[in-house]
Amino acid sequence: MSSPHTSLKVFNTLGLEVSAQALYIADTPEAIMSAWQATQQANQPFIVLGEGSNVLFLGDFDGGVIINAIKGISLEEEAESWHLHIGAGENWHELVEHTLKKGITGLENLALIPGKAGSAPIQNIGAYGVEFKDICHYVDVLHLPTQKISRLDREACQFGYRDSIFKHEMKDNHVIVAVGLRLAKQWKPVLNYGDLAKLNPATVCAWDVFNAVCQMRQSKLPDPRVTGNVGSFFKNPLITLELANELLEAWPGMPHYPQANGDVKLAAGWLIDQCHLKGYQVGGAAVHRQQALVLINENHATPKDIVALAHEVRNHVGEKFNVWLEPEVRFIGAQGERNAVEVIS
Ligand SMILES: Cc1cc2nc3c(=O)[nH]c(=O)nc-3n(C[C@H](O)[C@H](O)[C@H](O)COP(=O)(O)OP(=O)(O)OC[C@H]3O[C@@H](n4cnc5c(N)ncnc54)[C@H](O)[C@@H]3O)c2cc1C
Repeated sequence: MSSPHTSLKVFNTLGLEVSAQALYIADTPEAIMSAWQATQQANQPFIVLGEGSNVLFLGDFDGGVIINAIKGISLEEEAESWHLHIGAGENWHELVEHTLKKGITGLENLALIPGKAGSAPIQNIGAYGVEFKDICHYVDVLHLPTQKISRLDREACQFGYRDSIFKHEMKDNHVIVAVGLRLAKQWKPVLNYGDLAKLNPATVCAWDVFNAVCQMRQSKLPDPRVTGNVGSFFKNPLITLELANELLEAWPGMPHYPQANGDVKLAAGWLIDQCHLKGYQVGGAAVHRQQALVLINENHATPKDIVALAHEVRNHVGEKFNVWLEPEVRFIGAQGERNAVEVIS
């Protein structure tokens, strides 16, 4: 299905008033292929979207937007685990609820993350101590020029912090059409983060974790249906141990998380908050008042407002800490993805 000059307002959770030349809702890999072929024939760029909860459109898109709407969940039981095959267009949070209702545990920490299941591997979504890579069995990818679907096992996906092969070698001309999850039957709750640490490991069940995660998220993060946002706008920066030690001398209370490779991860929200930027506004865009890592569309923000605000936030933090934040959100220009750091530098 396609329609000319379509508004993308409801297809990006920032709620920006941008449009595309054409919009295709594709519910099979074949429909994705034919939508892609239509953009090729029209000599237009294309982009595949799930729910637009991790994109910033920099203006109108001069091509076709293909919405991934491939549905279907199938389940197989093995002696020690459940295996799920999920169409890439299934909503992630509904999947989490669906599995819990069936008595299948393991996704509860990832409740309420917006977006489609097929987008989850791309930035290796994560929250409250669990990442997509922990439960990923495989990812099925359609290569558009050859029309071939191949299956990548977890290793081949090259997962990292908010990273995977789908942001690099498989960024262009590849579309995720399904994901496979393997969930162990023996449940090991992950209770290290936030209010989850208050739960009693001896009596806790997966629904308790699910409910606690939903409560924490709802109290901290603005609902994109009410206030446009893309969750964490910036990644938590990884810095050298040397720089971390220097900073800790000046700010002994700075949250810091040593990594296996010797680097140290900092909390981007804390850094922004130290610059007293909560509530800071540029045009219709603002830094969220409760959560400094979230930039919001407060009042009819334009893409320019969001970019200018991100630029200011990055500069304030960089000048104060010599730590230069990088966006987690993907920047989409008129012809396709742009380098986000370059755009806000
Ligand atoms: C309120 C809020 C809270 C959030 N919390 C978290 C969190 O806790 N943890 C976390 O990790 N993320 C979080 N996010 C970010 C976001 O939810 C995830 O990145 C999510 O996986 C994006 O899914 P989507 O379907 O909206 O992707 P989109 O924004 O539609 O797409 C993201 C990128 O992937 C590409 N893409 C989309 N679908 C496909 C496909 N099928 N094949 C190939 N490429 C594709 C797009 O072109 C785009 O570049 C949050 C966002 C919001 C708004």
